[in-house]
Amino acid sequence: AEAAGDAEGYPRWVRVNALKTTVEEQLETTFKNYERASTLKEVITTKARQAIWVDPHVPNLLAVTQGTALFKTEAYTSGKIILQDKASCFPAYLLDPRAEDGDVIDACAAPGNKTTHLAAVLHSHRPEFDSPPQTVYAFEKDAGRAKTLEKMVTIAGSRKTTKIGPGQDFLRVNPQDQRYANVGALLLDPSCSGSGIVGRDSMPELHLPEAIGASKKKAAEPSKTLKRKHEEVAAPEENILRDDDGNETIVKSEKDLQSRLEALASFQLTLVLHAFRFPRATKVTYSTCSIHAEENESVVMKALQSDVAQRRGWRILKREDQVSGLRDWEVRGLSEACDGDKDIAEGCIRSYKGDGRGVMGFFVAGFVRAPGDDLREE
Ligand code: SAM
Repeated sequence: AEAAGDAEGYPRWVRVNALKTTVEEQLETTFKNYERASTLKEVITTKARQAIWVDPHVPNLLAVTQGTALFKTEAYTSGKIILQDKASCFPAYLLDPRAEDGDVIDACAAPGNKTTHLAAVLHSHRPEFDSPPQTVYAFEKDAGRAKTLEKMVTIAGSRKTTKIGPGQDFLRVNPQDQRYANVGALLLDPSCSGSGIVGRDSMPELHLPEAIGASKKKAAEPSKTLKRKHEEVAAPEENILRDDDGNETIVKSEKDLQSRLEALASFQLTLVLHAFRFPRATKVTYSTCSIHAEENESVVMKALQSDVAQRRGWRILKREDQVSGLRDWEVRGLSEACDGDKDIAEGCIRSYKGDGRGVMGFFVAGFVRAPGDDLREE
């Protein structure tokens, strides 16, 4: 395999960057020797040849056989293709920012997969324009990670559209600040337990093209060591947590796990409630790469029950109102964690690793409100 982390049972997901190229062009160039598979399973299981499959849910997404040297291709080093798990493409696609939504905030942006995806979605709605009239404000609290974000945004060709707040804590951004008066859509992808991550390979900043300064040390670190460590302690999957850099820790007791999840959930809820306060906002997505309901449906429920949600008319983005590819995605939220509310559970989108769909464990939900829905003053 070309990189540490190529995991059995998964394809390599490739997002074609619509700002720089098209699926058709990539099929004829980078992937010209690949055979078109008729199922995803064929891509995952084939060993003898290189196969490719065009994803039916997310636009501009391809699944290719693992173990091929994509890191060396011109398409990769020039930002035409981005290695990004399918589930990680859900939030920007679900948010679907359009010209009428005004500016966009990516609240927790580094390394920038979703920031660059947002720029591509904006472009896809107005391909006739050189760059979209809106701005994507990308906030990243960690100054070091903000540098990676800057590099990724530059290589992906979305630097003109994106304003980066390096070292800027989204929670300290004042929603009433005039600079954000036109923000209609926010994407929230906060730090989480990382319990849905399949391997370090899902951490694209570890594999950025060398041309833009990827850390060779980290990229070369074999994930086998980590695997061995897990086997030694025989930790159940849900007790393995990962930080934003993919470093793993094993939480030993159920009590420790619960207190970690509680702390994360409280931060995540604060972030959602902060996003709900932006005056012109009508769309928000909230996502995690966690499998735990505490960080997922429970955060959504508490957000919907909050004072600010009630006051400003925020509600769940129902399944029937979602973009077609995600409306069709069968794996939905846990009903029992949504107090049996079918609209909320169905509005939530989940994925599980190892279920044959070839994606990481993930969660995303959308919130919407009609402009002028404010019911009362704060
Ligand atoms: N959205 C990114 C992507 O798709 O490439 C991944 C985001 S990662 C899960 C979470 C990021 O949020 C980390 O880089 C972390 O440093 C940053 N972060 C955490 N709290 C933050 C805050 N209050 N304001 C801004 N960034 C924050």
